[in-house]
Amino acid sequence: MPDDSPLKPSTIAVTAGRPPHEPDRPLNEPLTMASTYVAGGDLEYGRYGNPTWAAFEAALGELEGGSCLAFASGLAAVSTVLDLVGQDATVVAPRHAYNGSIMQLADLEARGRLRARLVDVTDTDAVVAACADAALVWLESPTNPALEVADLETITRAAHDAGAYVVVDNTFATPLLQRPLDLDADLVVHSATKFLSGHADVLLGAVVTRDPELLGVLKNRRDLIGAIPGSLEAWLALRGLRTLHLRVERAQANAQELVRRLGEHPAVGEVRYPGFGAIVAIVLAQGAMAADLLTRKTSLWVHATSLGGVESTFERRRRWKTEAATIPEGLVRMSVGIEDVEDLWDDLRRALDGCVG
Ligand SMILES: *Cc1c(COP(=O)(O)O)cnc(C)c1O
Repeated sequence: MPDDSPLKPSTIAVTAGRPPHEPDRPLNEPLTMASTYVAGGDLEYGRYGNPTWAAFEAALGELEGGSCLAFASGLAAVSTVLDLVGQDATVVAPRHAYNGSIMQLADLEARGRLRARLVDVTDTDAVVAACADAALVWLESPTNPALEVADLETITRAAHDAGAYVVVDNTFATPLLQRPLDLDADLVVHSATKFLSGHADVLLGAVVTRDPELLGVLKNRRDLIGAIPGSLEAWLALRGLRTLHLRVERAQANAQELVRRLGEHPAVGEVRYPGFGAIVAIVLAQGAMAADLLTRKTSLWVHATSLGGVESTFERRRRWKTEAATIPEGLVRMSVGIEDVEDLWDDLRRALDGCVG
């Protein structure tokens, strides 16, 4: 991985975005609650900037290798980036992706704002062909909830040849497992609600880029649209980020072990796992009813949407009417947490035993 920082990612997660080491300075950036500032400086007003956001942005920016802007939520970041394209522009996007991003694209298309071209990201040739007259190529890898992996380098090259910007939603991988800007992507989007914050108590989004012009445009859009983070949210997210490497390491190890065991359970027809990260999808051999039964029969695993927290959660994705029809009815997306893997497996196995034939 090419590196613009001499420090390793774990060290950056712990040390970036802190006040200078000076006598009596706090070690952590304090929570600044302010709607306005004394005139004459850089901040001026609470919608334009906040030292607590800036600390979070410094840390995530350094982890991704670019400059970061925080937003009110992941979807606020997604929407602001989609707003970069001109009227009637073509946006290429995965047919399986975060449901809110797909719904936002569909809404913009229905209102005549842009054209969405949905592709199977595993079919690199088809994606490259789709890039031809695109203004923006939206990528998610691994995809939600199908866990498909895109060839980011090849697609990015094709998109740039076509003059399109490339955006990667890096929520599932986190900058510890994948740094899209190193692969020449123009923008990285995060739902910091998930792994970055990590404790299921915050909604927050972010965009990271190395392009100063894009950064300026996005900052201006954030100022004008007002999709700004709360300072408490930014503070909590930064606190969560300090242990990102430990949480991802443990959750990923748990996921890898569970994937091995799940593959041998007779109730499980298929296990989808890209080999890294903490999100796993299983397809129950007996379909939707077995999947619903599973989500009701566990005591540790919590039936809940969202992902990336310390606690293990899961849900049958097709319970949402807006989920893609190409996602199997019996698919359960699992967000593996940092509990003891034996306890997680015992709880799952007992519930799965009740879902066999
Ligand atoms: C949750 C999520 C989002 C949206 O983020 P919010 O913080 O819920 O607005 C976007 N992309 C992915 C991959 C997500 O998982």
